[in-house]
Amino acid sequence: MAHLGTYDVVIVGGGACGCTTAYFLVNEGLQVALVDKNTVGQEASWASAGMIGPTSAPSANPWYLQTTSLSKSLYDTLNEQLYDETGRWIGYGGDGALTIAMDEREAQSIALEASAQAADGVPAEALTGEEARKREPALPSGVQAALWMPEGRFLDARNYTATIATAARQKGVDIYEGQPVTALQREGDRITGVQCGSDLLSADYVINAAGAWAGKLDPILTFPVRPLHGQIMALEGPPCGLRHNIMRAGAWGYVTPRPDGRVLVGATEDEWGFQKKITADGMALLGVIVRQVLPCLTDCPLLDIWSGLRPASPDGLPAIGPDPRTEGGYLWAAGHTASGMMQMPATAAVLTDLVLGKAPRIPIDQVRINRFLASS
Ligand SMILES: Cc1cc2nc3c(=O)[nH]c(=O)nc-3n(C[C@H](O)[C@H](O)[C@H](O)COP(=O)(O)OP(=O)(O)OC[C@H]3O[C@@H](n4cnc5c(N)ncnc54)[C@H](O)[C@@H]3O)c2cc1C
Repeated sequence: MAHLGTYDVVIVGGGACGCTTAYFLVNEGLQVALVDKNTVGQEASWASAGMIGPTSAPSANPWYLQTTSLSKSLYDTLNEQLYDETGRWIGYGGDGALTIAMDEREAQSIALEASAQAADGVPAEALTGEEARKREPALPSGVQAALWMPEGRFLDARNYTATIATAARQKGVDIYEGQPVTALQREGDRITGVQCGSDLLSADYVINAAGAWAGKLDPILTFPVRPLHGQIMALEGPPCGLRHNIMRAGAWGYVTPRPDGRVLVGATEDEWGFQKKITADGMALLGVIVRQVLPCLTDCPLLDIWSGLRPASPDGLPAIGPDPRTEGGYLWAAGHTASGMMQMPATAAVLTDLVLGKAPRIPIDQVRINRFLASS
């Protein structure tokens, strides 16, 4: 077996999770390797719509509220920092998220949601239809009310992942591409590295950030994460432009802008295992979303359509931190499901705390792998 190197940390998986964690760790002066079976940033983080922003979700709080809030402030910093370091903008911006109401029932649900978000400290404001159209002229003329969450942002997730990978590499992270990790290396019950075929990388910590494949890495250290397929499309945006992420109360889907004027419309949720495909049904659903959420786009040219595999956990929250089936050396960082970009820089910050032996800046009890062990 060829020994490729000894590191403080080896990260398995070069999506947004692995690349952001590698960047944060190398900034702390650690020796880091990142291994991907493919080229980095080609899976869920490539396919993602990239809507982010602080959000309270009662069934997922306090983790969700805390990670989405911290991630927003970290993205504000990373936006400038990564530009200074790489000369590339990550494609981050926008004036918030708008959830629109087209009738009285939808308006009532928006008013309730505005109060609930504000009660949990998330900036949120209920707007009249007129106020909403003033903020976003592309909205349909019949809009009655809207929930405005001013901290919502769009992010070009594929550009972000490629850029932070570049920055991490520049700072000294060794990135091994086209190298599937085939096994974990053990000394007793401690994890001490990874094998990639006949190559070995040793490390004090191995971080599993392998997305929808995270549960397949080792036959003993299982995690019931599954691929949740999503189809998504890009259209030429409206002539008046778009500055907000747009949703509609009571309707599926969203529209989110890009700095170059395109808009993304997403997304389907298909349970097809690891197969990726574009289907007529998927395209039809995306067409319905356009008509229900932002009908001014119905005549806009279709520019692209693609799909990706969300790393879906049984409760929608990731597994973060150590695994009690080991005697150390192994950290989970996978299973962010449909909102990984919203939670990403905060996840990387928490992992960095754990590697450095500090108390995690967001408590991880709610997201430990332990909650799945009895059933997996
Ligand atoms: C259509 C769609 C829309 C989305 N929209 C949003 C959104 O608006 N907002 C939001 O917050 N989130 C969104 N998400 C979810 C978000 O994109 C994901 O949660 C996030 O990208 C997951 O990142 P990751 O790094 O964990 O996984 P991935 O990006 O999938 O990366 C995992 C990496 O692990 C590598 N890997 C796997 N197995 C191995 C192995 N054995 N050895 C080496 N490498 C391996 C893979 O090649 C891959 O590069 C969306 C996802 C999809 C698909």
